[in-house]
Amino acid sequence: MAEDAAAALFDRLKTLDLEMSLIGPDDLSTRAPGEHPLNFQGGVMALPHTVEAVSDLVRWCASEGIAIVPQGGRTGLVGGGISRPGELIISTAKLATIEAIHAAERTAVVQAGVTLQALQEAAAEHGLTTGIDLPSRGTATIGGMVSTNAGGILAFRNGVMRHQVLGIEAVLPNGEIFSDLTRVVKVSAGPDLKHLFIGAEGALGIVTRVVVKLESRRTERATALIGVPNAQAALDIVGHFQARPEVLVEGAELMWRQFFRDAAGIFGFDAGWLEEETPAVLLLELSGESIERTMELFEAGLETLWEPLGLTGGIVAQSLDQARKFWQLREESEFIYRLHPAALSYDISLPPSYLDTYVAEMRARLAAVDPAHSAYVYGHIADGNLHLSITNTANISAERALEIEAAVYSGVREAAGSFSAEHGVGQEKRHAYETFGNPVKRLLARQIKAALDPNGLFNPGKVPF
Ligand SMILES: Cc1cc2nc3c(=O)[nH]c(=O)nc-3n(C[C@H](O)[C@H](O)[C@H](O)COP(=O)(O)OP(=O)(O)OC[C@H]3O[C@@H](n4cnc5c(N)ncnc54)[C@H](O)[C@@H]3O)c2cc1C
Repeated sequence: MAEDAAAALFDRLKTLDLEMSLIGPDDLSTRAPGEHPLNFQGGVMALPHTVEAVSDLVRWCASEGIAIVPQGGRTGLVGGGISRPGELIISTAKLATIEAIHAAERTAVVQAGVTLQALQEAAAEHGLTTGIDLPSRGTATIGGMVSTNAGGILAFRNGVMRHQVLGIEAVLPNGEIFSDLTRVVKVSAGPDLKHLFIGAEGALGIVTRVVVKLESRRTERATALIGVPNAQAALDIVGHFQARPEVLVEGAELMWRQFFRDAAGIFGFDAGWLEEETPAVLLLELSGESIERTMELFEAGLETLWEPLGLTGGIVAQSLDQARKFWQLREESEFIYRLHPAALSYDISLPPSYLDTYVAEMRARLAAVDPAHSAYVYGHIADGNLHLSITNTANISAERALEIEAAVYSGVREAAGSFSAEHGVGQEKRHAYETFGNPVKRLLARQIKAALDPNGLFNPGKVPF
């Protein structure tokens, strides 16, 4: 039945005279679906070559009552790109042109399917960078990052995707093109409607073009791993260097013990310089005028902080290769799923000063559910974004999964944080959205969805607008 629905949709699409490529069920089933195994379940993908083709295709889908699932790089981690038989995947892969880099004004105009890395490389030719960075940079697209309001490594300094976006073009569910490609920071001309599409996970339209704000690029960097007694000590280290005008903090990632220990084991990393029972390890990267001066300031700073903060080990990378190995420990976090394929993952944000309390209380709540569960904890410490992976969850009941969810999310909203920091809601965090999200915001979001997509054809079953 499912194959019939996909084949029938494919046949109908082939009769349309639109500037687009098509991939049918036989071909799609042989391709890698990205981060979620069900992304290609719909079986049919259209790849429009122009925004006009997106618009015409969306109009046709609206008239035929065909639901649409937009997809970019398919690196999303919450099932936002899952498609079902009868639904049409619209991919932005053929909308991948960097149309302009305005170096003097520090902006780029790009089509939605441009990858983050492609934009970073193009901007680097002008001494600029994107001001936002993610480990999935090689595959994640600008359109996908807008749609999930991606965060990443530099959010503590530059904000999240929302703060790097100056303009947006999007195709609305009725096929109309919303074009607001302003290249200015200041727009005070009524509600700034481009923000509707940021974080909407494809439920309100297909983002086709984006104006991205660019930042200065500093290449002279020093990278260190530092053993810390708690998150507060890590934040104090970050604060120390943020107050030094000669250096810029380029990354501050904290890995709690179980994460660091297992990452070091998997990647064959020698952690002999660290005291055995160190609670957490901070990965800190600084940039400055020259590598020598940056390393000097780094080492001097750590020496000053050593005793007051109770640091338990530190190592400054002596080569680019060594720095890459430090980053590998943090960025290749999928090692967790090699060790624990059924681990449950969460992505929360909290005011940074609350992190230690939260981690202690969360662990106590989790132990009360069942001491067999343990939590890998790691994340972008300077903006309070924690990732958690809960282990020993193979074959657990639905009730147990909800108990674990409650152990992780309890108190997060009350502490002025969010149950989803940077990955979105998608299909997998729907229950959390209903249970731990803000009810007034939910109601307003539903009203907006009903106004823009009255027939519910845009990415149904995901963010429950
Ligand atoms: C190893 C790894 C590390 C990661 N690290 C981070 C991190 O540090 N920070 C972070 O924020 N995220 C991170 N992510 C998550 C992921 O990279 C982001 O969610 C990314 O923003 C998604 O981009 P994409 O192009 O892959 O979108 P997809 O996965 O294709 O889509 C994501 C959602 O956006 C919608 N969508 C995609 N394109 C469009 C469009 N043009 N218009 C409308 N809707 C669209 C889809 O329907 C879906 O709901 C990581 C992922 C991996 C695999």
